[in-house]
Order: sequence, then C-alpha cells, then structure tokens
Amino acid sequence: ESQLNPNYSFENFLEGDSNRLARSAGLAVAAKPGGTSFNPLLVFGGVGLGKTHLAHAIGVDIKDKYPEKTVLYISAEKFTQQYIDSVKKNNRNDFIHFYQIIDVLIIDDVQFLSGKSGTQDVFFHIFNHLHQNGKQVILTSDKAPVDMQDIEQRLLSRFKWGLSAELQHPDFETRVSILKNKLYRDGVEMPDDIVDYVAKNIKTNVRELEGAIISLIAQSSFNKKEITIDLAKQIVEKFVKNTKREVSIDYIQKIVSDYFQMDVETLQSKTRKRHIVQARQLAMFFAKKMTKASLASIGSQIGKRDHATVLHACKTVDNLSSTDKQFRKYVEDITKKLSV
Ligand code: ADP
Ligand code: MG
Repeated sequence: ESQLNPNYSFENFLEGDSNRLARSAGLAVAAKPGGTSFNPLLVFGGVGLGKTHLAHAIGVDIKDKYPEKTVLYISAEKFTQQYIDSVKKNNRNDFIHFYQIIDVLIIDDVQFLSGKSGTQDVFFHIFNHLHQNGKQVILTSDKAPVDMQDIEQRLLSRFKWGLSAELQHPDFETRVSILKNKLYRDGVEMPDDIVDYVAKNIKTNVRELEGAIISLIAQSSFNKKEITIDLAKQIVEKFVKNTKREVSIDYIQKIVSDYFQMDVETLQSKTRKRHIVQARQLAMFFAKKMTKASLASIGSQIGKRDHATVLHACKTVDNLSSTDKQFRKYVEDITKKLSV
C-alpha cells in the first residue's frame, strides 16, 4: 500500500564516501520525519547510483519506527499519471486531498515533472500544505535543482529549502563492499581476487556492478563452470565494451528498425501503432544506454520528440523488460546485435 520495497533497506545500502552525506541525511530524516531542517530532502545523482534504493530505505525505516505514520513512495511518472486521470475523471480535489493527508511523501525522479506545468502546479500546492503542517517530503532527481530544466522557479525554490545531497560514483572500496554484501545475501561464494577484479573494472554505476556479478553467477551455474578469473574477464569485457563503445544514434535506429523489419522513417513517424511505438522506445532506450547524448538530443534525432518522451521511453522499456518475456527478448536480441 505504501509501495515500499523492504529489500531496499539502510542495512543493505552500503556506506562510502560517495554517499555518506545523503545516507546520513536520510537516517536523520527517518529518525525525525518532518522534524529536521532537511525538508524536503532531495537526493540527486546519475543513473544506478542508489537514489531509488535510498528513498525506499528512508520510508522503510520511518514505517519501522513510526508504524502509525502514513508513508507513500511514488515515482513522479506515476504521480503525473494519477493526476492526469483525476482531471479526466473530474476528481482533482480528491487527488489533492489524498496527498495532503500523507505524513511522509516520497517522490522518485522528480525530473520527470519537467515541462509538465499542470502536475507541477498541483504538486506545488500539495508540497506547501505538507510542509506547513510539518510533514516530511523526500525527493530524488537525476540532477541538482540548479541544473533542472523546465521546472517552475517557485517549485525549484521549494526544492532548495531543505537539503540537496548528491550520490556520487562509489570508490573502489565501496564497490567491493557492495559486491560482497550482495554475494553474502545471495549465499554465493566467490574468491576475493575475482570480486576485486569486477569492482576494479566496473566503475559506471552500482546497477552495472550488480549486473556484472549476476551474469557471472548465472554463466557459471548454467554452464556448470567454476567462477574463475577468466570467466570474470570475459564478462567484464562485455560490460565494459557495451558501456564504453560509442555507437551512433543513427546506427541504433538502423539496427532496431532492421530487427523489426521496418524502415527508419517508420520508426520515427508519428504513428501510435503499438509495435512501431515500441520500436521507437527501444531505439531511445539504447541511445540513452549506449551514447553520451542528452535526452533532448536523443529525442530530436529520433523523430523530433522532446526529452520527456525519451525519458518515458526508457522507463517503459525498463518496466516492460521486467514484466514481459517477449519484450525482454527484444532487448536481449538488440543488445547482442549492437554489441557485435
Ligand atoms: P537509481 O535510482 O539512482 O538509478 P537504484 O537505487 O535503482 O539507482 O540503484 C541501482 C542498484 O544499485 C540497486 O539494485 C541498488 O540496490 C544498488 N545500490 C545502489 N547503491 C547502493 C549501495 N550504496 N549499497 C548497496 N546497493 C546499492
Ligand atoms: Mg531510480
């Protein structure tokens, strides 16, 4: 009901220099929700650095200490969708009221509100109400408030009222402890030199770090091979290659449209036909994943869409690949094609 994931706990959120400030601020907020100057607490940082995990951890901890408090975790995307639905169904006031009686509101990825003035407006009112009543607001974002685009000034100024804490890239020691903790929790044994090797070579973010160790474990168990340094090298190489190699957005569009047997013009067209929309979203997803282009630039190159559309595409692909088997196969197939 609160949408909190108990696995995303503080206990499992390993501390290091890269996250010490954000983690400590989170703990302080959890100890006294609404009762510190960290209101709102805004956690920002790049993909896969632990924003969602930390946001949940704060909520989980509050629920633990204050079971009577209502804590709600929601992504900004879902919040936006709910708001739009409420307008359609003529119950905008119910929507606002629902949010105004929450004790702790956690909104993930607020950059998603960029350019959505209606949702920003309603959030502004909810925020003010909660803040005035001493309720806690926790936000995450991929950027610091100063770098956020297309967010109203009055909202940005609210974001700056409390504390903005950055999640940075974890250093080697932290990467090792994150991996060891994960292996321990999964009950997998792995020699130290292999753990060190993976931690040393995967520096992009924690999600990739975990991804590499997961495929290492999977490879060894499917092929009934021992986890050796050679196997680790193979897997790490793949990861590094996938993330480092700059492919062009044109190339990605070509591969994706070939895969679905359509031409690039169709992929870029304005049609809402499901399979074409999906192809377009996959192209955007891979462009985000495999190039350094900004969301805005990806959008303009793939059929003149805006950055919010690209962001939405990336999320949709993320979601579908975890819920839809067929879709996951698309992602895997295209990944292979793009990495040879
Ligand atoms: P973001 O929301 O910033 O993209 P996530 O919170 O989804 O990142 O984190 C990606 C993965 O990395 C998750 O599985 C999360 O549990 C893990 N992770 C991130 N930071 C840490 C950390 N400090 N300790 C343990 N796991 C972490
Ligand atoms: Mg996240």
